Amino acid sequence: MNEDKIIYGNILAKDIKDKLRLDVISYTDKGFRAPHLVVIQVGSNPASSAYVNGKEKDCVSVGFKSTLLRLDNNIEEEELLKFVKGYNDDSSVDGLLVQLPLPKHIDAKKILFAIDPNKDVDGFHPLNVGKMMINEPTYLPCTPFGCMRMLESVGYNDLSGLNAVVIGRSNIVGKPAGQLLLRKNATVTTVHSKTKNIEEICSKADILIAAIGKPKLIKENWVKKGAIIIDVGINRGDDGKLVGDVDFDSVIDKVKYITPVPKGVGLMTRAMLLENTMQAYKENIK
Ligand code: NAD
Repeated sequence: MNEDKIIYGNILAKDIKDKLRLDVISYTDKGFRAPHLVVIQVGSNPASSAYVNGKEKDCVSVGFKSTLLRLDNNIEEEELLKFVKGYNDDSSVDGLLVQLPLPKHIDAKKILFAIDPNKDVDGFHPLNVGKMMINEPTYLPCTPFGCMRMLESVGYNDLSGLNAVVIGRSNIVGKPAGQLLLRKNATVTTVHSKTKNIEEICSKADILIAAIGKPKLIKENWVKKGAIIIDVGINRGDDGKLVGDVDFDSVIDKVKYITPVPKGVGLMTRAMLLENTMQAYKENIK
């Protein structure tokens, strides 16, 4: 049955949130305050608004305190930095993130690097990226972290002897996904827009993670029989509906497992942000 091949992010994320809710209660019952995530949004980009609203809803659903600071699109970089520093210094804040993209007049790197690494629940600060590289405890970037959980959910924890191919090399998905696969003993290849013979490389992958941003680019001939596909892409199809980077209908008969879009990686990304925030909270209240 094809349904057995689908790794549903919504089901896994619900389970994670149910456990987090109980974990929060175990602390608040002892008199501790609730975990607190602050999200800063600059401007009113509709996609960003949808993401930050989702994060706020998630926080409330597990008993976290959520603060959403919406700032004007014209805010000066220095002003934004002051807000970041204020939250860095506020011990009642456990996790802090600034929603990307930022307006062009703001240097996004400068802002991300200003976030206290101990509150960097997105895992984007260079210190945390470095820790991830050398397997030190840190906050793992939420999307690749969620991809690994999806693999684990179908028994793929140790990837010894398996070929993994990551399509895409962004700092937030492709590169860290490659690192996390390596940690799990996979033999990892990263391909990207400048790679030759992509299809041939992908067709040898036991595990294929697609993080491209091109609707339904990956067809049946890119895929090895029995492969596991994690589709990170979130794109609008011609009909306006959400689709992944993988042509789901074309590959479904060939794969062992696949993640759908929607109800896939996106919801796991959100769940991993909650887990990272809980981890930050536990460190902070120590
Ligand atoms: P990005 O634009 O930063 O990176 C895309 C990567 O794809 C680049 O490294 C580029 O080299 C590669 N690429 C582009 N065209 C290619 C082609 N024809 N063949 C091979 N490689 C190609 O994007 P990103 O931030 O990494 O996001 C990728 C996709 O994942 C987008 O659809 C985005 O919306 C989605 N996304 C989803 C989640 C989630 O939670 N599900 C989170 C982040 C991003």
